[in-house]
Amino acid sequence: MAFDLDMIKKVYDRYSIRVAAARKPTGKPLTLTEKILYAHLSEGEARKAFARGVDYVDFAPDRVAMQDATAQMALLQFMQAGRPKVAVPSTVHCDHLIQAKIGADADLSTAKDINKEVYDFLASVSDKYGIGFWKPGAGIIHQVVLENYAFPGGMMIGTDSHTPNAGGLGMIAIGVGGADACDVMAGLPWELKFPKLIGVKLTGKLSGWTSAKDVILKVAGILTVKGGTGAIVEYFGEGAQSLSATGKGTICNMGAEIGATTSVFGYDEKAAIYLRGTKREEIAALADTIKEHLTGDAEVYANPEQYFDQVIEINLSELEPHVNGPFTPDLAWPISKFAAAVKENNWPATLEVGLIGSCTNSSYEDITRAASIAKQAVDKHLKTKAEFTITPGSEQVRYTVDRDGYLGTFAEMGGVVLANACGPCIGQWARHTDDPTRKNSIITSFNRNFAKRQDGNPNTHAFVASPEIVTAFAIAGDLTFNPLTDTLTNEQGQQVKLDEPQGIEMPIKGYAVEDAGYQAPAEDGSKVEVKVDPRSSRLQLLDPFAAWEGTDLNGLKLLIKAKGKCTTDHISMAGPWLKFRGHLDNISNNMLIGAINYFNNTADSVKNHVTGEYGPVPATQRDYKANNIGTIVVGDENYGEGSSREHAAMEPRHLGVRAILVKSFARIHETNLKKQGMLGITFAYSADYDKIQEDDIIDIKGLTTFAPGKQLTVVLHHKDGSTDSFAVNHTYNAQQIEWFKAGGALNIIRRQMAV
Ligand code: SF4
Repeated sequence: MAFDLDMIKKVYDRYSIRVAAARKPTGKPLTLTEKILYAHLSEGEARKAFARGVDYVDFAPDRVAMQDATAQMALLQFMQAGRPKVAVPSTVHCDHLIQAKIGADADLSTAKDINKEVYDFLASVSDKYGIGFWKPGAGIIHQVVLENYAFPGGMMIGTDSHTPNAGGLGMIAIGVGGADACDVMAGLPWELKFPKLIGVKLTGKLSGWTSAKDVILKVAGILTVKGGTGAIVEYFGEGAQSLSATGKGTICNMGAEIGATTSVFGYDEKAAIYLRGTKREEIAALADTIKEHLTGDAEVYANPEQYFDQVIEINLSELEPHVNGPFTPDLAWPISKFAAAVKENNWPATLEVGLIGSCTNSSYEDITRAASIAKQAVDKHLKTKAEFTITPGSEQVRYTVDRDGYLGTFAEMGGVVLANACGPCIGQWARHTDDPTRKNSIITSFNRNFAKRQDGNPNTHAFVASPEIVTAFAIAGDLTFNPLTDTLTNEQGQQVKLDEPQGIEMPIKGYAVEDAGYQAPAEDGSKVEVKVDPRSSRLQLLDPFAAWEGTDLNGLKLLIKAKGKCTTDHISMAGPWLKFRGHLDNISNNMLIGAINYFNNTADSVKNHVTGEYGPVPATQRDYKANNIGTIVVGDENYGEGSSREHAAMEPRHLGVRAILVKSFARIHETNLKKQGMLGITFAYSADYDKIQEDDIIDIKGLTTFAPGKQLTVVLHHKDGSTDSFAVNHTYNAQQIEWFKAGGALNIIRRQMAV
């Protein structure tokens, strides 16, 4: 599990040169975000990016982290690159597929059984290609990364939206789709739109019941779930320096809830303490040598309005504990106003379950603060009214807090310790309830609380708060209780009040663990066999896509003319289909089943031009493929918006669709199509969309002279013998045209690796 000190040295060596070069054109002071981004531009991009105002820039991240659900397709694709090892240090974390039902041991053992083929695949593919593998039970990706791999001034991408958690240790860490992870592991640059910058100045100091969680709950209330879109949030000020590194991690983690690209704190003494405490004193020593580059310039923080696109100021000394929700993380209530909100909105006041932990809030500090409340329940003879669960973020944290007696305290209070995994946070929760139709309330220290997120029940009102507030509410079993001011009746009929929580930032005896659950990869993976059962319904090795045949695409049939919104969910539905995310052929049975057919206003019903019958989109396309007939998909505006799921681009490619012609693309989906070697084109005049008829035979001309900026031509042969012809645009650059010709970006890398 060793971090890669040589890699970190190389990153730090670049800083002085890159930061100086970035300052040169204007002499302007720099934010921390700019310094980290400039230090990670891929070669050749530096000059372009130093002149701010550029749009998309190529970066070279230092690390990749993947969780088990999204890692499957990322690694299946990576295998196509033909590399003997990943190009940058990478890890896989088995955390998302473990269902919480009974308790840690039983649930983990069930998960190992049910997911055996997935775990075997991930373990063997990691072993072969030099990837660190964290076994089921080892912990949740973001906590494990914070404890082992995050480093100040680094850049990481991760196939999970809460990857920004590592910003607590000063890293620019961004959640991406599997295709991006695959690219970086394969050695390709990674493209990001140069972000806007939001500065959050923290003054004062936390005290009493208020914790780091309340900072982000407050920020979410200010910025809302959309306010951080396209931005990196940089925290600074004396208040920031007073927060523990893990508290900063919580804040950055939940930056995903305001849509931020990521969030980051500068390197400071708290970061150094955490690095030393997690046995990485060498990194702290290295970081000290360039510490002026691992924070924003003093002029920036003195006059933030001049350097950030938006500035927010929060005084920690005045900040109240918050409870956010229900159904959205930006509905922020200071605790003093929460009881009234519960009553006014008629939310169920009886609390049924309190859940603490998760990747967001299971640091030693979090657990000790929550345990100090739990201990009072025991000492003051209070009977815990709600169910209460604890999800440790990693085996290291679990082992350490168990050693120090805190899990025992929770058990005395009636708490159940769940596996070190996502569990209830991602709906992997077999919740015991007598009546799922009853409106009910739960409160968690997790990050997301959208309807159905935790238990799949739309009647569940989920609220989010700090672990200590959650613990207090679980004891009270009542959401109208204010632990700061109210008393509770104990088992002896006395009125008792909970004292303020007391926490310990770092374990006094140090962190410890017996078996962290890490598997190091083989030194030489060439002999390691990747385990995929050919009969598996969940995993399937990929075959390379075929190269372009070198001619125009003539005689294409229209698979579907999609009407209106066509998001990646319409193209590749989630829900139950996600169990096939590692099996391209099986998941392709959801291809475009959510898209509305322009000609009959119906989803998943298109004309099969071989049989003349109407049928489901995937089955119809399979028929064309079997008959060697190329097809085209036509779409409306912003085709492919939504998640970055690569399946939405891979499925049409796999089933033999040759081109996607739309009024406009969502950018990430357009790029994903290009990476898969698919032709993605747009109407030069969107009114030409109306010319497409159901029985058209379609040609795409101009591919033999395919060049950047040069239009192609579409010819429609209508059923009545007439034709229409019009120009179409594309955004392929020279490199992307090579991807198209080779049949996909990975085919090019494989070719290069073979030389
Ligand atoms: S604990 Fe929740 S937020 Fe964290 S990685 Fe797992 S599912 Fe995502």
